[in-house]
Amino acid sequence: MKRLVILGGGESGVGTALLGKAKGYDVFISDKGKIKTSYKEVLKHNEIEWEDEQHTESKILNADLVMKSPGIPDKVAIVKAVRAKGIAVVSEIEFASKFTSATIVGITGSNGKTTTASLTHHLLKDELNVGLSGNIGDSFAKQLLENNHENYVLEISSFQLDDVMGFKPKIAVITNITPDHLDRYEYQFENYVKAKFRIAMNQTEDDYLIYDADDQVIVNHLKEHPVQSTLLPFSVDKKIENGAYFENNKLIITIENDKITMPTTNLTLEGKHNIKNAMAASTVAHLLKIRKQTIRESLENFQGVEHRLEQVLKINKVQYINDSKATNVNATYFALESMDAATVWIVGGVDKGNDYRELFPFVNEKVKAIICLGVDNQKLMDTFGNMVDIIVETQFMSEAVKIAYKIAESGENVLLSPACASFDLFENYEDRGRQFKDAVRNL
Ligand code: ADP
Repeated sequence: MKRLVILGGGESGVGTALLGKAKGYDVFISDKGKIKTSYKEVLKHNEIEWEDEQHTESKILNADLVMKSPGIPDKVAIVKAVRAKGIAVVSEIEFASKFTSATIVGITGSNGKTTTASLTHHLLKDELNVGLSGNIGDSFAKQLLENNHENYVLEISSFQLDDVMGFKPKIAVITNITPDHLDRYEYQFENYVKAKFRIAMNQTEDDYLIYDADDQVIVNHLKEHPVQSTLLPFSVDKKIENGAYFENNKLIITIENDKITMPTTNLTLEGKHNIKNAMAASTVAHLLKIRKQTIRESLENFQGVEHRLEQVLKINKVQYINDSKATNVNATYFALESMDAATVWIVGGVDKGNDYRELFPFVNEKVKAIICLGVDNQKLMDTFGNMVDIIVETQFMSEAVKIAYKIAESGENVLLSPACASFDLFENYEDRGRQFKDAVRNL
């Protein structure tokens, strides 16, 4: 019996354990932190051995295969020890994909993964037997056990891609690449870019790579490191021969002379970035032979994803928007770009080395007041202090929303788009977004 040791007892770790056990592995889970009670119950119920708050080397270094959860960096001692022994280390996506012949759509990128994956799934689900997984909801491994779909749309982070070897999606999407998580990549942007491109490394010309042709990082990388995949770029700025582009409020997709045109005027998703996401998702749908009418209707009735430019409420003709998931500058860039009226902007949290300069034009043009919501707001105050008439700071969401309520006038927006991580004042970005929505509803 082969021994599978799983580092990390979260969603992907427990999913892998269940799948590994079903496939006849001797499974052991080890987590340096605490494993959630609900997961412990699952492990107990399935007679899977585990430990938490420790790594016992004697139970780990005898593995034939190690699955490392995406949250664990390479630099931790136990991972180094595993590698030093020459034990193969894989990610959950790599492990699980070996056990399925389903058609896989893999979606990665710095921003827009969840939105694009959810939208793609929405476009496919009426006509195909398709699951949505990866970083969303139940792990891929668990889904393979429970409901063996013929197709999967997977949201895949760079951490999952770090440890893939044979993973080969039929269709890969790279939404964009901007600096993020550099602490995990030796502060080398190039390493992070390479990790993203691992999504295409096993593809052949029978597989497709859909990517943003307006993103210079992607375009340059492709020039220097060509891939085998059939390329299907999309662009909002220029005409694309084979791929997708945007013209006169229409989205035009051409694949091998087969052309479809779709109006975007009734799209529920707003902003240029969402046009890009819609292009990527529609290109996938078109490749998988979804009818044009279905794509069009589904684009129009997609409700969006919570915490991503989510329209919360209109109070006294002021629109409140929750973009709590904007944890980096690039996401906030597209949020501010999409604002169609003067905006009170709530920003701040844990700064990941942000360079705010690209936001200046939008701040000058659209932002009437800034509310800094973080433990340390100094950088924001220094950066934007001279740019707007009103800039205040607070450490309470309820107060931030009340101040915004006082400042915003009829026809304007109140936007929570922090450009920062949430961990200084909140549990996570979901908690931050929920607190925002509660505060708005309590006004
Ligand atoms: P991810 O799963 O990659 O974090 P999400 O879909 O959760 O992406 O969106 C994260 C943030 O990025 C949100 O604030 C969202 O509005 C913004 N966003 C969505 N799509 C894009 C895109 N194509 N380019 C830039 N920002 C985007």
